[in-house]
Amino acid sequence: MDNKDLKENMINEERHTGKRYRRMKTVFITVSVVLVLMLITSGFLYYKNFSTYKEQLGKDEQLLKDLSGKLTEKQEELDQKNKELDIKQGELETIQDQLGSIQKELDSLKERIAEVSAENETVKKENDDLKKELEEAKKALKAKQELKAKQEQQAKKDKQETKPKQEKQETQEKQETQEKQETQEKQEEPKKQTGKVAYLTFDDGVSKNTPKLLAVLDKYGVKATFFANWKPSLKEYYKQIVKKGHALGNHTATHQWESVYSSLDSFKKEVKTFEKNVYDLTGYRTTLFRFPGGTSNTKGLKYNGRDTTLVPRAIEWLKSEGYAYFDWNVSSRDADGKKYTASEIANHVLNGAKGKKVAIILMHDMVSKQTTLEALPKIIEGLKAQGFTFKVLSNSSSTVHFKPATK
Ligand SMILES: [Zn+2]
Repeated sequence: MDNKDLKENMINEERHTGKRYRRMKTVFITVSVVLVLMLITSGFLYYKNFSTYKEQLGKDEQLLKDLSGKLTEKQEELDQKNKELDIKQGELETIQDQLGSIQKELDSLKERIAEVSAENETVKKENDDLKKELEEAKKALKAKQELKAKQEQQAKKDKQETKPKQEKQETQEKQETQEKQETQEKQEEPKKQTGKVAYLTFDDGVSKNTPKLLAVLDKYGVKATFFANWKPSLKEYYKQIVKKGHALGNHTATHQWESVYSSLDSFKKEVKTFEKNVYDLTGYRTTLFRFPGGTSNTKGLKYNGRDTTLVPRAIEWLKSEGYAYFDWNVSSRDADGKKYTASEIANHVLNGAKGKKVAIILMHDMVSKQTTLEALPKIIEGLKAQGFTFKVLSNSSSTVHFKPATK
């Protein structure tokens, strides 16, 4: 090989090497640029993501704040509603209380209505009695007028002609009978028409209160009627009642509903037991009767399978035994569910008796009726002031009868 070729080879070699170097440099620079660009891009992206995230976080925080604010609001609303609910609950309780007292008032009104209608019945009956009396008086007057006319006629005839003796005698007899009747009527009339009569009646005795009631009656010189039950341990009081001239009525031996009203036989036994015991003790045979609970009571029906014929049958039997039975047209209301003061009891009687000609007054002779005992002086004084005189009930005295229950 010659120099020239070698030189040329060397130049070629160098050229090659330079080329390689430049290519490597280019690759290196390109790679570096790409890396830097990637770094920048990722940094930018990261930054961008971070700020978005931050923003989101801020938004979330705000949302959380808003929610918590709303929650507090709702909590407050809830508290308010609870408070309102409490108030409503209180109001409801008050309303319930009011409702209860209204119900009570309603009940007592119902009772009062029942009483008033019973009173109405008796007033009606009194009216009927008065009408009857008027009818009778009219009849008597008419008969009297007729008799007078007859007498005048007879006198004329007597003057004109002498009648047979027999006929004359008959007329005389008739006249006498008529006169007798008239005198009787005249005697009864003032009893009916003058003055007002009050019959104080005490039921359910005798009791430890009996002597105290008797002492008050004694003090005022007033006689009363005791419709008693049979209490063997208090025998002395039956004797005192009879001895002092009060009337002692039969109110059955036991006053036990299940015994008095279970059957007619049981009823009869109740009446007869009282009658006999009192008779054996005092020699006084009573013919006055009062039904426990009054003739119209419905309580007795519970004990006889709701036999509404029992009381009417009992009335028939009592009559056949010579008994007169009595209800009342004035009540002291001392046996009401409500406990009245002495002054209220006295007012019940005095108001009830107002305007009546005959007042049959219901009271009770029981230790538990202390207020009745306390009211008695005011009752007697008040009735006297109203013009009443006091009598004891008898088979011929005025009476008040309730209608027996029909259902
Ligand atoms: Zn009674």
